[in-house]
Amino acid sequence: MSTITTRGDDLATLRASVTGDVLLAGDAGYAEAASCYNLAIQHRPAVLVVAADTSDVAAAVRFATTNDHPIAIHATGHGVARPSDGGVLIVMSRLTGVQVDPVSRTARIEGGAKWAAVMPLATEHGLAPLVGSTTDVGAVGYTLGGGFGWLGRRYGLSSDAVRWFDLVTASGEELRASADENPEVFWALKGGGGGSLGVVTAMEIELFPVTEVYAGNLLYPAFMARDVIRRWRDWSARQDERLTSSFVLMNFPPLDEVPEPLRGQSFVMVRGCWSGDLDEGAAIIDEWREWRPPVMDMFGRMPFAMNDMISQDPPDPMPAMVSTEWFDELEDEAVEVLVRAGLPEPGRPPMLVMTEVRHAGGAVKRNAAGAANDRGRSGELLLEMVGIVVSPHAGLALEAHLRHTRKALAPFVTGATYLNFTEGEEKQHRTASAFSPHHLARLQAVKAVLDPDDVFCHGFAIPQG
Ligand SMILES: Cc1cc2nc3c(=O)[nH]c(=O)nc-3n(C[C@H](O)[C@H](O)[C@H](O)COP(=O)(O)OP(=O)(O)OC[C@H]3O[C@@H](n4cnc5c(N)ncnc54)[C@H](O)[C@@H]3O)c2cc1C
Repeated sequence: MSTITTRGDDLATLRASVTGDVLLAGDAGYAEAASCYNLAIQHRPAVLVVAADTSDVAAAVRFATTNDHPIAIHATGHGVARPSDGGVLIVMSRLTGVQVDPVSRTARIEGGAKWAAVMPLATEHGLAPLVGSTTDVGAVGYTLGGGFGWLGRRYGLSSDAVRWFDLVTASGEELRASADENPEVFWALKGGGGGSLGVVTAMEIELFPVTEVYAGNLLYPAFMARDVIRRWRDWSARQDERLTSSFVLMNFPPLDEVPEPLRGQSFVMVRGCWSGDLDEGAAIIDEWREWRPPVMDMFGRMPFAMNDMISQDPPDPMPAMVSTEWFDELEDEAVEVLVRAGLPEPGRPPMLVMTEVRHAGGAVKRNAAGAANDRGRSGELLLEMVGIVVSPHAGLALEAHLRHTRKALAPFVTGATYLNFTEGEEKQHRTASAFSPHHLARLQAVKAVLDPDDVFCHGFAIPQG
């Protein structure tokens, strides 16, 4: 742990000027405030500021820049790039206000609010945000990286739905970024802004009239993986944009909290969410039921408010490692690599918990040209691989497995990166591949104006222009 050096009585001034908490290592509440959903990643800031309002954020930024400390931003720890180590960590967990306006169909969301705080307020008016697989992630952090959820092919990424952001910049100033005010900053934040351009204290997003969906999972035995994946590839390509679907190779862990028929078992799953006429949705899924009866059928009508039931991501923090790739099409050889990587070899434990390929295209791809992260959202099929780091040794093996799998997939992928599906060093190493050269140059120009000294160096790693 590095020790904090400050000029004069800056720390005392900071303490006196913020409404929230200023914590140093060893202080009560420090470890809890810095803890991440991903337990494999640990923030170790010299000074941690739990901001209670925008002026606390601005005070923390000024304190950091005066004392030459880098700034990391923490909402939930679902998507850390470079953890804070000896700098200033601005914790957003108290900035959780949400207001929904059913008339304008918008939600105003503070910088640390999870989607879980937005969903009930929106769905009570028959409206839905472009939330992802779990409402446990921070709405702003998710949106700054794009935000691809179960309505994605129909309405686009969450970043497409933003009306404005309120941003505290490296100089400690507050600015509004929208189509009319600071439009270039607005553009940059939508897909290029994760932790690297300033602190978003609030955003306003558009909501969509989705109440009930036909959604869920069909589980087939793992030995059917190749057949199911090839069939899904052809079937999903025929579906219109009201369906966002995926296939999943799932290795349920042998843990007590996993129900008995699934515990320790492997499956290939067809997963998705249809937001059109519900009978039409049922008919589309019936094609699978008629083809081969699944061993478990969890597809059906559900309120969109129950979105989390589709992916059933684990709610409790866990030590995880993720990686990703984009395909324009899924060739048989790539299917073979995915099946071998994603399912256990006989007699051996699986390396990955989940290997999912989501059907993107649709509005995800159509809106790409205008978005900052144009390359990072332009493919048709988006792979995400997730493994659990059960020990440091297993972590090394998992890292090697992900690296080998990506190498084997190299001939079949586009080389672009969807940054929300990366964490740790990989997020920073692959940042540039989310942007076309022209968009990267625009992003660098915004970064050069907003944060010329790269104080916000813990998020997306925007290279110096
Ligand atoms: C279980 C799980 C499921 C997921 N499902 C999806 C999904 O379906 N679709 C999808 O697109 N992504 C998904 N993600 C990825 C997730 O959206 C990203 O990891 C996102 O960055 C998480 O944001 P956070 O604020 O919750 O996390 P944090 O780790 O706290 O923050 C992540 C990054 O965002 C920055 N950030 C957060 N808040 C602010 C702010 N107010 N101002 C400026 N920067 C900020 C941080 O600096 C950091 O760089 C998932 C991740 C997990 C672990």
